[in-house]
Amino acid sequence: MEHINLLLDIGELNWVFKDSADTEALLQNVVKMVARHMQADVCSIYFFDEKNQELVLRANVGLKKNSIGKIKMKLGEGIAGSCLERLEHVCTEDSLAHPDFKYFPGINEELYKSFLAEPIVSKDSRVGVIVLQRKEDNPFKENDAQALRIISSQLATLIENAKLMTSMNQYIKKIKAAEWKPQLEAKFIKGKSASRGYAYARIAVIEDGNAFEDVEKMSFAQHSPADFYRAVKETEKQIELLQRKVEKNLTDAASMIFTSHLMILKDKTFINGIIEQINKGKNPPEAVISVTKKYIHIFLASPNEYIREKSKDIEDLAVRIIANIVRNEMELPGVKGRIVIAREMYPSDVLRLSSEQIKGAILISGGVTSHVSILAGTLGIPMVIVNEPTLLNVNRKAKILLDAVIGNIYINPPPDILDEFSDRLERKAKEAPAAMTPITKTRDGLKIQLMANVNLLKDLETLKELVCDGIGLYRSEFPFIIRSNYPTEEEQYFVYRKLAEGMPGKEITFRTLDVGGDKILSYSRKTKIDNPVLGLRSIRFSLKNREIFAEQIRAILRAGYEADLRIMFPMIYSLEEFLTAKEIVRQCAADLKEKGIRHNGAPQTGMMVEIPAAVEIISEFAGIADFFSIGTNDLIQYMLAVDRSNEEVAEYYLPHHPAILRAVKKIAAAAQTAKIDISVCGDMANSAAYIKFLIGAGITKLSMNPEYLGENQKIIAALDAKECRQLAEEIVGLSRVEDIEKMLWPEKYS
Ligand code: PEP
Ligand code: MG
Repeated sequence: MEHINLLLDIGELNWVFKDSADTEALLQNVVKMVARHMQADVCSIYFFDEKNQELVLRANVGLKKNSIGKIKMKLGEGIAGSCLERLEHVCTEDSLAHPDFKYFPGINEELYKSFLAEPIVSKDSRVGVIVLQRKEDNPFKENDAQALRIISSQLATLIENAKLMTSMNQYIKKIKAAEWKPQLEAKFIKGKSASRGYAYARIAVIEDGNAFEDVEKMSFAQHSPADFYRAVKETEKQIELLQRKVEKNLTDAASMIFTSHLMILKDKTFINGIIEQINKGKNPPEAVISVTKKYIHIFLASPNEYIREKSKDIEDLAVRIIANIVRNEMELPGVKGRIVIAREMYPSDVLRLSSEQIKGAILISGGVTSHVSILAGTLGIPMVIVNEPTLLNVNRKAKILLDAVIGNIYINPPPDILDEFSDRLERKAKEAPAAMTPITKTRDGLKIQLMANVNLLKDLETLKELVCDGIGLYRSEFPFIIRSNYPTEEEQYFVYRKLAEGMPGKEITFRTLDVGGDKILSYSRKTKIDNPVLGLRSIRFSLKNREIFAEQIRAILRAGYEADLRIMFPMIYSLEEFLTAKEIVRQCAADLKEKGIRHNGAPQTGMMVEIPAAVEIISEFAGIADFFSIGTNDLIQYMLAVDRSNEEVAEYYLPHHPAILRAVKKIAAAAQTAKIDISVCGDMANSAAYIKFLIGAGITKLSMNPEYLGENQKIIAALDAKECRQLAEEIVGLSRVEDIEKMLWPEKYS
């Protein structure tokens, strides 16, 4: 019981840490708390300094105050040093007699002979050592060692971050001591990881239209008409190259994202308008600005939303032309090689930014399961989401280190933090990729189908290096979201066929268009409304736009010729809706047959279970659907009334809320009774703790983002299905979130 309290306290400290920069005080609190709970006279935390290969005492209670920062020992030196070297705990009744003991005079250590040391290790590195000491009449026992092991595992991440924070603070102190007013303030901000990865780069802050507005305010040296002609040619070449690059890498999504740029650039009225002004004596950059402004005015006055959107393209184009006129003479706003900070982003923005090779992104609003995050993951853009609007005012010369693995943002980090990160990256690069086995099983032999969630064709490349049993969710909306118009049936067929060919012989689940909510089509007014997640989205949109829906279904049926094809309808909320959608599939197949077009005439048809109403009538659905896939991202959003894209309510978004877990169990039971296939394709399937529950609830098919396949196969191999079933059974009997947390994360509470 005492240990539980202790661990809870540490959990709370973690929170304090997130909001506070006073790391020293935090660590002191930790040692005080551990000493109190473990009834120790002395508690010390040593940090391991990787560069110097030595341990440094960073926090202590019980020894002389001046020892902090002064006591140092090499790896392998002293009891603590050898404990960390061997990665084994040391427990002795008489530390003075221990062969590894090293005497430090003047700190009173000799008073405390009972000694217990535990290494602190994070996933891939030595972090430090925690040491407890008591007077000799009160030796440590095996259960103390066990408790300290748990504490140490809890402390690992905290200390890794504290190490970085300490360097950051020392750096800031140094600057202050030198009375040198830094132009660039160093700062640490804690956010949430939306797409994993690291980046270190200068920033580009994107506020609506801000690049062009910034350029508008600049004054330029005089340039010649020849500079303008050259700049137009260079801009054209650069954009064509960008377009070609994107098309090569993202065949499905990127089609023509720079078309309007090229069209405007080749537009005689636009170019001649500028030339006319230049001929009248205007400086070329100013002529470009003036004509661009006229165009923006015309575009914005259009009743057509699509044309209004295009004003951004012309702004972007103008900045590119001016950059080519002035060349290296002055620095213009741009995003290449930068970490982009934006209030919000649409998927199309993410795609364009990716083609411009940004290094990372920080979003002020948005949620980690939103489609912008999902897309950033697919495109390999590290992304952190944090509700911190002051970031938009960061000095434009700042450099940021983005640790999007855990969600940390370091503004103008000092050299030691950078060294620490380059070491981490080096270690990562050396790690062999986790080799996967062809079959995924639990320890007691239960076979689990591991499926992949695919968003763009690019994911297929990642999958080549991995093992999966098929595609459990293809989010077909991505090619729709990032284009500037509805893709035709042929364009869709082209993409879908590549997908089918990429997974020969394996099951492929095409989810039909799931637009609306945060998946907005810029060219369709219909998806832009108040309360979009409760609006005309997803299957509702498809059934109201039958021709668009039928085109997609025909493209899927044609692409699925001779493939193990499944069609899945999203957001189904009534039996009628499902049956109507299924009937359209039947009609499309009949139509293709009549026309003699090759297609798959017998796909399985199933549904996403992601609306609470569907859970209530799930047994009836099981009678008409061939399969279910639980979309936990939306199911949680709707059941708990928490917008999944709103960072402000992120703490309410609890996958382990008892209502969610009971709903999952109920859906699984209905599928089992009706003997239909069931899987989970929401983000719950990515996470180790939830996988235990899902398997226990009888779900043996999990569809997840490709990056999780390797680690989850390992996690599953260590699970015992019987234990999972017991756990799930017990959990659905619990009503309090906290009690469920204790079951799902016992290591934090034992
Ligand atoms: C879900 O809702 O859980 C899901 C998998 O679909 P999406 O995230 O695309 O809404
Ligand atoms: Mg969904």
